[in-house]
Amino acid sequence: MGFQDAVMTGMSRDGGLLLPESIPLVSAGQLRDWAGLSYQDLAFEIMNLFTDFDPVELRRIIASSYESFRHPDITPVVEVGDVHILELFHGPTLAFKDIALQFLGNVFEHILARSGKELNILAATSGDTGSAAIYGVRGRKGIRIYVMHPEGRVSPVQERQMTSVLDDNVFNIAIDGTFDDCQNILKATFQDLDLKDDYSLGTVNSINWARVLAQIVYYFHGVSQVQKSTGAKRVQVSVPTGNFGDIFAGYLAVQMGLPISTLILATNENDILSRFFKSGDYERRSVSSTLSPSMDIQIASNFERYLYYRTGEDGCRVADLMAQFSEGKNICIPPDSDGRVDPLIQADQADSAATLATISDMYKEHGYLLDPHTAVGVHVGRSLRSPDEPLLCLATAHPAKFGDAIEQATGEDLAHHSLLDVLDDLPTRCTRMPADSAAIRDFLIETIAPRVEKNLN
Ligand SMILES: *Cc1c(COP(=O)(O)O)cnc(C)c1O
Repeated sequence: MGFQDAVMTGMSRDGGLLLPESIPLVSAGQLRDWAGLSYQDLAFEIMNLFTDFDPVELRRIIASSYESFRHPDITPVVEVGDVHILELFHGPTLAFKDIALQFLGNVFEHILARSGKELNILAATSGDTGSAAIYGVRGRKGIRIYVMHPEGRVSPVQERQMTSVLDDNVFNIAIDGTFDDCQNILKATFQDLDLKDDYSLGTVNSINWARVLAQIVYYFHGVSQVQKSTGAKRVQVSVPTGNFGDIFAGYLAVQMGLPISTLILATNENDILSRFFKSGDYERRSVSSTLSPSMDIQIASNFERYLYYRTGEDGCRVADLMAQFSEGKNICIPPDSDGRVDPLIQADQADSAATLATISDMYKEHGYLLDPHTAVGVHVGRSLRSPDEPLLCLATAHPAKFGDAIEQATGEDLAHHSLLDVLDDLPTRCTRMPADSAAIRDFLIETIAPRVEKNLN
């Protein structure tokens, strides 16, 4: 299967996740040559190793994916006290998911234009993914997107970021229920294979390989900026983690040859992953709501990809382990003689007190505001880092997206962004629906059908 098929399919036929057949290696000389490249040129060099696009087309896709970013460096690094911050939030929805979803939207449009087909994306969101996905495909030819969110259970800012997009191809659906209801509707809809085929349904969730690929780029970009400003050979990188998509891209960057000495995995109180990397035991517990809601997950959907490499690329063993896990058993990977589950990855969690203290300290000492997700990464990064090498912390959202947490931490209403401040005055559009997959099915058929009939004539 080529890259373009992998992007359109999302998953392999046996239900497993897709990975490249081999990971390309980048030599030290190549890394030196890449150090002066713009973000877009670097993205081209890296993505060209993995994709089957014509090089001219790939450059065009990359250029239009990052046009919407509001910083010339796309992902700039700023030095704040003893850490370097990689700002990944300069995209249209102010969260790092834009980096992958802007690219995915362009890739979809390119592939559909050549095949003459269309794609109807159905998604469920608890907040950030929905708006980034909508901005990735709004106004694009051949694509419609239907995003379900639980009514009244996403933050007002997140809701308005989605419902203020009025393009004809965007359908916001407020479900009278919880996020789990939205996800169950999504699953039920995709189990209806006839509906899926007849109406060309697809997804944009974090298991799409194109999303991981787009995220590899900023590890190279960030590490080379830190090397340039500090002269250090190797860098430690801290990643606030939920579904393991972001840090998995970093893991692949290291396999390609990027000199990261340690990947620091930081979770909030929902700590299934940090427990795993400390003990080797992957054990499910219940989810609690925290100040960093985009990391409130119970099962990390990209973890399966990591297991493939961790088990020596043994696909059968991974399938067994995943099957065992879905039956309610733990996955156990014994630590090595130094007590480490993976020599590259260190992990810990930050609770809400630590998160708030980190936001407040960084603001008092350096006048820099961290969003609560980034603060989790900075807290854990500082506690696990070695003092000998620079620490790069990934900043996954703009603080203004989580203004309540900032106010709780600093006592002041400090975090604003013009894009969010205008949201209150914008017109919105949203359809309210019951938590019932049959109703959603009818809605899809009703809004897609005219086109399907036309194609048959
Ligand atoms: C999605 C998200 C994360 C978690 O990233 P994963 O790839 O799921 O590990 C962290 N911070 C923010 C702001 C996010 O939106």
